[in-house]
Amino acid sequence: MKYLFLSVLFICTTWYTLAQKDSISTALKIELKTETYNKGVIIDTIEIPLIVKPTKTPVVDIKAAFWDNINHNPYQNSIQKFPLELSFSDSTYASPVLHKKVITSRYGWRRGRPHNGIDIDLVTGDSVVAVLDGIVRIAKYSNGFGNVVVVRHYNGLESTYAHLSHIAVKANDTIAKAQYLGKGGNTGNSRGSHLHLELSYKGQPIHPEYIFDFSSKNAIRSQRLWVTHKWAHARFHNSKRVSKIKLITTEDEAALASLAKQPRFYVVKKGDTLYGISRRNNMSVARLCKTNSINQNTTLKIGQKLVLDL
Ligand SMILES: [Zn+2]
Repeated sequence: MKYLFLSVLFICTTWYTLAQKDSISTALKIELKTETYNKGVIIDTIEIPLIVKPTKTPVVDIKAAFWDNINHNPYQNSIQKFPLELSFSDSTYASPVLHKKVITSRYGWRRGRPHNGIDIDLVTGDSVVAVLDGIVRIAKYSNGFGNVVVVRHYNGLESTYAHLSHIAVKANDTIAKAQYLGKGGNTGNSRGSHLHLELSYKGQPIHPEYIFDFSSKNAIRSQRLWVTHKWAHARFHNSKRVSKIKLITTEDEAALASLAKQPRFYVVKKGDTLYGISRRNNMSVARLCKTNSINQNTTLKIGQKLVLDL
C-alpha cells in the first residue's frame, strides 16, 4: 500500500513537471512500479494523453506592420488586390452603442464627398464600446474626427469611433469585445451628437453594412467573406439609401470576382502634378479631380493614392 501511494505521488509530480515544461507534448508515458510479495517488482507502462488547451493568443502579430499611433491610414501607398478576404472567429459583434441602433447616415456619397462610415444616433455621454477584440491603434483628437479611437482587430479589420466627447483608452491598450472605449459626442467635423463608425481593412474603408447586420441581432454576416471594390468605395453608394447586399462567401464566387476589372490607382511621387498624372493616364484633369473628390488647386501629397478609374 505504501509503494502504491509513493507511485501515485511520483506520477502526480512527474505529470505536473512535464506538463509545465512541455506544453506541446501529446502524451505522457509513465512507468508504474508495483511491488508484490510473490512476483517481485512489476513494471507497467501507462500512457496518458495530454490535452493542451489552446490559449487565445492571436495567430498574427497585428502590431508587426503599419502600426501607427498618429495617422488614420498608415497604408497610404500600398495597393490592395480585390476582392479582399476577411475571416472572423466570432459570429456576432458587440453593438458599439448600448441602445437601439438608429442609423442617421449610411456609407456612401454625401454632399459631393465620400462618407466612409455609418452614423449611429446617440446622446452626448452615451457609452461607446468596441465591436470586437483588438488593440487600440489611435486614441487622440484629430480635426475631422474629433476625439477618435481606432482599434485594430485580430483579423486585420480596423474600426474607427469618431466624434467622441471623452476617450477612456490609450494607444496600444489591448481591449476586449464590448469593452468601454469612451463617451459619444459631437467633437470634430460633426453636426449633432452621433457615432461615426468606420470599418476598414489595410486602409480601405469598407461599407459597414456589408460586414455587419445593424439590426438587433448584431450578426457578422459571414465568418468568411470577400469584399469587392464596389463595397470599398463610397462612390458606388448613396448615404441616404440602403444598398442591396449580395455577399461573396465561397472561394468560387471570390475567384469569379477576382476576374472583374481591378480599379487602377496612382501613388503620388515627388514632383508630380495633376496635369502630369492625368496626361500620362489619358484622362482629363477634371475627371481625375471628380473621381477623387479634389479640385484643381489641391496640393498633392507624396504617397497619396489617387483613383484613376473604378
Ligand atoms: Zn459619419
